[in-house]
Amino acid sequence: MILDRASLAAQWDVASVRADFPILGQQVNGHPLVYLDNAATAQKPLAVIERLDAYYRTENANIHRGVHALSQEATGAYEAARASVAKFIGTPESRSCIFTRNATEAINLVAATWGSANIGAGDEIVVSHMEHHANIVPWQLLADRVGATIKVIPVTDIGELDLDALPGLLTERVKLLSLCHVSNSLGTINPVEQIIPLAKTKGITVLIDGAQSTAHFPVNVSALGCDFLVFSGHKVCGPTGIGVLWGKPELLNAMPPYQGGGDMIDRVSFDGTTYRQIPERFEAGTPHIAGAIGLGAAVEYLMARDQAALDAYERELLGYATEQLKAIKGLKIYGESAHKVSVVSFVIDGVHPADLGTMLDMDGIAIRTGHHCTMPLWARFGLEGSARASFAFYNTLEEVDALVKSIKKAQMMLG
Ligand code: PMP
Repeated sequence: MILDRASLAAQWDVASVRADFPILGQQVNGHPLVYLDNAATAQKPLAVIERLDAYYRTENANIHRGVHALSQEATGAYEAARASVAKFIGTPESRSCIFTRNATEAINLVAATWGSANIGAGDEIVVSHMEHHANIVPWQLLADRVGATIKVIPVTDIGELDLDALPGLLTERVKLLSLCHVSNSLGTINPVEQIIPLAKTKGITVLIDGAQSTAHFPVNVSALGCDFLVFSGHKVCGPTGIGVLWGKPELLNAMPPYQGGGDMIDRVSFDGTTYRQIPERFEAGTPHIAGAIGLGAAVEYLMARDQAALDAYERELLGYATEQLKAIKGLKIYGESAHKVSVVSFVIDGVHPADLGTMLDMDGIAIRTGHHCTMPLWARFGLEGSARASFAFYNTLEEVDALVKSIKKAQMMLG
């Protein structure tokens, strides 16, 4: 591939984008930081950092309770953040966006409430072989509790869902299909716009794990037609400790509460307690107010980007990185779908991923090594884990070069 870096630069001014992310200007171990662990967590733009700072300097108060000015201001900011999140995922109803701690908690919430009410002995839950543990273990806990069974959509050798197996798996016993939109280990973008209608015609409830997809492209729940979507704030340039559960309002309002406490109740008495409707129904106690407001700033930041240029830029990064990494002797990439985000998992003959990660860190390069919370997936490929470089829209082609150079150096020393 002949790279036309000039035309790429004209489309996406990565230098000015990088200026929004102060952490990227750092040196690590005496080298400029090359941050390629974006699938684990993304860096934060000034828009988010400054919003958090302003909140704690001038707006901090508890929400939904006080009559005083600060409380009303904080409540307004918190609810405005919910409206931003609703816009971000394409729903006109911000009340259907519940703030959670992260994607993991959002899935656990659905398993504990909707799952307990709707899944019983003999029922089946379908997930895929490429799920993150967060989209496996909550269903195992539920299945063990109620006597349900988990079935798994197989993954092909290039790291795609085996769609031929799907119709046979979606039997009338299946109550739930819970599927990642994008695999955090393979980068594969699953064809959920094809899969969701298939499940819905069979009356199956569908949860989409958007933890990775929301970081790369717009996800529109209204267009997708799923029942639940979950994602984490920290992967979309927002703070840690805040995530989102979106659900169809009629489903959410019919679900039993998750945690009990302040804010989620209508009336409390020792004769019996009644609960509020969404979103408060699922937001017991004082929430992560600053986190929600920071997430609002993050999704506003993302929505203000030129998505077509961002897509083209990330595709270029992925294409270049794939080509350069493949040229390294003994390196094998796992996840070769034509439909993938800028995530590259790989192993190198004779080099343990953890040793590689440690060597790269000495050059200031941050990658992920290990199972990436997808142990069943790696077992399917006969691996314990991999090295993973995951690129965001603020990474550069020069950083790919630095990665490749450092890998070659490590390979000489370790191989
Ligand atoms: N699902 C996927 C696909 C993920 O990549 C992750 C995070 N690696 C999660 C769920 C869980 O996200 P969190 O740890 O933020 O809850």
